[in-house]
Amino acid sequence: MNKFEQLGLSESLLKAILDLGFESPTEVQEKAIPLLLEKDTDMVALAQTGTGKTAAFGFPVIQKIDANNRNTQALILSPTRELCLQITNEIKNYSKYEKGINVVAVYGGASITDQARDIKRGAQIIVATPGRMQDMINRGLVNISQINFCILDEADEMLNMGFYEDIVNILSTTPDEKNTWLFSATMPAEVARIGKQFMKDPIEITVGAKNSGSATVSHEFYLVNARDRYEALKRLADANPDIFSVVFCRTKRDTQAVAEKLVEDGYSAAALHGDLSQAQRDGVMKSFRGRQIQMLVATDVAARGIDVDNITHVVNYQLPDEIETYNHRSGRTGRAGKLGTSIVIVTKSELRKISSIERIIKQKFEEKTIPSGIEICEIQLLHLATKIKDVEVDHEIDNYLPAINNVLEDLTKEELIKKMVSVEFNRFINYYKKTRDISNQASGSDRRERDDRDGAQRDSSGGATRYFVNIGSRDNFDWMSLKDYLKETLDLGRDDVFKVDVKEGFSFFNTDPEHTDKVMEVLNNVQLEGRRINVEISKNDGGGRRDHNGRSSGGSSFGGGRSSAPRREGSFAPRREGSGGGFRSDRNSAPREGGFGGRSSAPREGGFGGRSSAPRSEGSSDRAPRRSESFGDSPRPRRPRRD
Ligand code: AMP
Repeated sequence: MNKFEQLGLSESLLKAILDLGFESPTEVQEKAIPLLLEKDTDMVALAQTGTGKTAAFGFPVIQKIDANNRNTQALILSPTRELCLQITNEIKNYSKYEKGINVVAVYGGASITDQARDIKRGAQIIVATPGRMQDMINRGLVNISQINFCILDEADEMLNMGFYEDIVNILSTTPDEKNTWLFSATMPAEVARIGKQFMKDPIEITVGAKNSGSATVSHEFYLVNARDRYEALKRLADANPDIFSVVFCRTKRDTQAVAEKLVEDGYSAAALHGDLSQAQRDGVMKSFRGRQIQMLVATDVAARGIDVDNITHVVNYQLPDEIETYNHRSGRTGRAGKLGTSIVIVTKSELRKISSIERIIKQKFEEKTIPSGIEICEIQLLHLATKIKDVEVDHEIDNYLPAINNVLEDLTKEELIKKMVSVEFNRFINYYKKTRDISNQASGSDRRERDDRDGAQRDSSGGATRYFVNIGSRDNFDWMSLKDYLKETLDLGRDDVFKVDVKEGFSFFNTDPEHTDKVMEVLNNVQLEGRRINVEISKNDGGGRRDHNGRSSGGSSFGGGRSSAPRREGSFAPRREGSGGGFRSDRNSAPREGGFGGRSSAPREGGFGGRSSAPRSEGSSDRAPRRSESFGDSPRPRRPRRD
């Protein structure tokens, strides 16, 4: 019996679960489903977004409603149109083997008459945003006087958005005997008030610690001068080639400006804020989901309800005014058990906010250093090498090979490799040579007292040996598991392996020099799942100082490096309405730079390593190199399989 069967779910739901590939229930599902199936009860569930709560209420609702009765029996309220559509979609997937169940989504910005018509045809479940629902009730287009279930999803978000009145009005038109299930990440006073007013002895369940961030999200901050904020953002993107992120700004204006700058600098970015039309927002979200956009620059309000899996990083370009909002932001990553990173770009004067946030999320931040230009060059270069190795050859190219061979026939293999990677490297090095180091680590009296749990900090220049090893996230390692693996394989102590930096096809780590011979000898003779491990000494010492966890905190001199470039596809950003509207899209245009890696617009996995990027005019620019490339595979390291 699998774990879903033990929850008491019907055959048809179990069949749908099998199709969805869910292997075992999440914590909120395990706690909520049996209770909701067994009892007619109210419930308050404190659960973050991404914990599987849609199924936690969706499965019981589907199982409990009467498919033969066409009256509306369940109302699900959700804060945004985006989330409303997602829930509707999920419920449809869950109920695909139940005959006769109809789910209708009710939200603003679409035809109210169409929605009313769909409801009239018989909708046992309505998923609605509060504003539109209120509107429909006022116009007599919907009857919720006989519902048995009312679910308030992301209740804190709904109240945050000013829907208190609407929710109270809507709930007042529903029968007293119904069951109300309230799902919320946090429990501010207003949510508690709704609970008190409209619920009877609710069972309370909590997933994870109350108000705390998800355990799958790690938190980092980078201290910079205010004038370097944008440059820091670019470097963080360059140093994380597989980034798939939401970048939060405080205002619509900043959101638009940052997105436009990123686009201008060749990144696949777009803005999402309230000054865009619904159609523009839909377009942006579609592209983000489709991963044509790697950096979605958003305001807090516009980003509410963004429910996209596999977001690797949340970037707080500016911290929110209300520090509680940080939790909502960081909850956009680390979903469904995946790992995520929440980054804060912070100036000295904002440093104390970090401590306040730590108290709220009950997690510590890790202080990190903005990677130097040269380190970024290494990362991109090694990514390129990995991409060359991995690229699937389309045999269309065979037609051109004789001509190409003709051009290149005098080059040796070594010369050819050097020249190929130089196509990329020259552009980067030329760009980054001209840039200064922008890291601004907290120092002296400004430095926050940081605890140093993972052993003494070692000075990076204290003679540590840095290694390059040909295993990475593709082999299911993340930095923690690679550190464990190395310690076990090399029979080293807890603090002997540090500054572990895992990239897709390779990684870096440090040891003290006394272990160098052992590392070289042992690791070079080890096989991982039939593949020989190759370890080399890197010139880069991993830079910066050692952080708490032995994770790398940035680097400096050339020689070591990191991984992979982002697979960027064109870049486009919606303009504000009234200023031309629509998207600016480079996606279909010809490569601007020509040559290898060209400019975006390339097919997804095509191209030579895909990275094109070069400053537009090499002499002047303080811009980041341009990018191309598309992306597609999962960028997050998975935990290694343990045999
Ligand atoms: P939610 O918190 O409902 O928005 O769910 C977050 C994501 O997790 C969605 O993509 C769900 O499809 C997925 N999900 C929900 N339950 C499970 C499960 N038991 N196993 C794997 N994925 C799940």
